[in-house]
Amino acid sequence: MLMEANCDMLVSKSLSRRSFIGGVVILPALASALTGRARADSSKASQASMHYQTTPNGNMHCSECKFFIPGQDAQSNGSCQVVDGSISPNGYCIAFNQK
Ligand code: SF4
Repeated sequence: MLMEANCDMLVSKSLSRRSFIGGVVILPALASALTGRARADSSKASQASMHYQTTPNGNMHCSECKFFIPGQDAQSNGSCQVVDGSISPNGYCIAFNQK
C-alpha cells in the first residue's frame, strides 16, 4: 500500500517535471513565432564585438568580403556568414576577408 502510494507520487512528479520542461522549451519559440520578431543568431558574432561599421575602411567593404551574402540587389543590405544582423554592402568589420 505504502509502495503503491510512493509510485503514484513518482509518476505524478515525473509528469509535472516533463510538463514543465516542455513548457520551458515550447513557450519561447511560440512567443517568438507569434510576435514575428527575429531572434539574434547566437552562432554569429555580434556587430559590436566585430567592430562592424556601415562605412568602408579604405578599399575594404563587405561586398568585397568572402563572408558577405548579398541582398536583393547591389545596393541593398545583405547578411554575413560571420556577423549577425543586417549588413551593408558598404560596411566593414575586423573579420574582413578579401574575395
Ligand atoms: S565579415 Fe565583416 S567585412 Fe566581411 S561581410 Fe561580414 S561584416 Fe562585412
